[in-house]
Amino acid sequence: MGIVDWVAIESEWAYWVDPESFSFKHVKKRAPVGTVIVLKSRETLDDEERTYVKSSLGIVGETGIVALKKKDASDTLAKQALDYMRWKKRWPPFTSMKRVLNSGDVEVYYEPTEYDSFVLPLTKEMVGEDPSDFLSRLKKHETPKEPLWKVETAKSGRSKCRTCKDVILERRLRIGEPYFYEEKLSYRWHHPRCVAKRIDASEIEKLDGYDFLKSEDRQRLKRLLAN
Ligand SMILES: [Zn+2]
Repeated sequence: MGIVDWVAIESEWAYWVDPESFSFKHVKKRAPVGTVIVLKSRETLDDEERTYVKSSLGIVGETGIVALKKKDASDTLAKQALDYMRWKKRWPPFTSMKRVLNSGDVEVYYEPTEYDSFVLPLTKEMVGEDPSDFLSRLKKHETPKEPLWKVETAKSGRSKCRTCKDVILERRLRIGEPYFYEEKLSYRWHHPRCVAKRIDASEIEKLDGYDFLKSEDRQRLKRLLAN
């Protein structure tokens, strides 16, 4: 594989899928030729009070982004996934078996973020043998061992505490309890007070994200977790 050329990308909010790691990488002014691009934009609904994030897809060409339909983006990612599998002899990160079709072809589910997912078709023609046989010989990709609990200030007022079910207000501290959903690391959020008994006071400074808190938030966190 190997990445050849990088092309300037105008878009301010976009990701490229790295064929060598299968992770979403933030586009910083440029992206490599041949990679799939996910462009994001914030759109306002008719009532002008709510917004949502719109995604559109493309591939990086020699002279910029060429728009792609979802199916074509998925086909491109399927070829890149197959290269990855042959090269590393393992499933790419964020992938899992979706289903085996009657024809024997398979669909692989690729979900790199909470908001982005693709169904990648792997056919007999592409693989050169029964895709299920091929996949069964691959190693599962390694999931990080024992992820840390996390702390941050809530970026919005939309999350709910999984302990008491109340809303976690914007800019208040929240504690993330790690869990894996189909091998992808996610967090269940809680009010600090609601999980105080589950966190050892001597471990507070080891929480992921603690280093990024302002000193007043660190003090507040220690008070809230004191039990
Ligand atoms: Zn709570």
